[in-house]
Amino acid sequence: MTTNGSTNGAANGDAKHYVTRRGRLAGKNAFITGGAGGIGLETTILFLQEGASVILADINTKALDTAMTKIQDIVGEQTASKAKTVQCDVTNESSVEAAIAAADEWGGVDIVFNNAGIMHGDDADAIDTSEKIWDLTQAINVKGVWYGSKHAVLSMRKHKKTKGSVINTASFVALMGAATPQLAYTASKGAVLAMTRELAMVHARENIRFNSLCPGPLNTPLLQDWLGDDQAKRHRREVHFPSGRFGEAIEQAQAVLFLASDESSFVNATDFVVDGGLSKAYVTAE
Ligand code: NAD
Repeated sequence: MTTNGSTNGAANGDAKHYVTRRGRLAGKNAFITGGAGGIGLETTILFLQEGASVILADINTKALDTAMTKIQDIVGEQTASKAKTVQCDVTNESSVEAAIAAADEWGGVDIVFNNAGIMHGDDADAIDTSEKIWDLTQAINVKGVWYGSKHAVLSMRKHKKTKGSVINTASFVALMGAATPQLAYTASKGAVLAMTRELAMVHARENIRFNSLCPGPLNTPLLQDWLGDDQAKRHRREVHFPSGRFGEAIEQAQAVLFLASDESSFVNATDFVVDGGLSKAYVTAE
């Protein structure tokens, strides 16, 4: 339970959150891709609670409707009126451009969270990954981040913003080798890290910060649907979690809030890892 009475997706065990709402994003306009999914929706709710106006962009219109109902339930009608849903396919540049332009009537975007991504069930190793799955994964996870970053910069310039923050979702798998391969996904997330680092250098003098978020394995549909009820597949991974549990989407959202806010004004070009210590593990406690 938070101090204002909202659970905001509070999770099991250590993942409960006691958050004081402080208007940390007051007056800011945010654009979030994959806004109807696990991390995107929790981030939207948190951003709204912190005073931002938010555009949730997603390819799935039904999920966007469901997301809006949840937002209204959690933050109330008045705060929810600062959220807009837009259907957007991040693989299509004009779709991304139009979705970001939905913030024009608010004065353009201050924060862009390029978070939409897929991990396809047919993604495998070098031998078994098909070209179709490879191309689809790169189109959403890499090209989508490029388009979102490009139109973030163009919108910020158009609206003469003096600062901006762009957060691109990568993954802990971009930092570690896994013997349980999803080659296209892993390669795509490595590309997000490299691209984001370079964008951070190119745009630092115009005060647009670019950081990558590297989540660990989470309780969201993306991973949980993929693992399904295959206990062996789950165990093969869970045995390596230092904290003994999956992360929660809200725990990623809290990190995104920091990167989006002015509190992180000197944080640029980082691979911001939120993984419960997984990427630092040698052996874990019994
Ligand atoms: P999710 O599946 O819950 O949400 C992803 C959202 O992206 C969905 O709402 C989906 O409709 C949307 N989307 C898919 N293709 C799209 C497209 N072409 N255009 C626009 N929207 C599209 O997943 P999540 O767990 O919230 O993951 C969000 C991000 O975090 C992804 O980039 C994912 O790779 C990354 N990530 C997740 C985990 C995890 O364990 N869940 C771990 C590391 C990184």
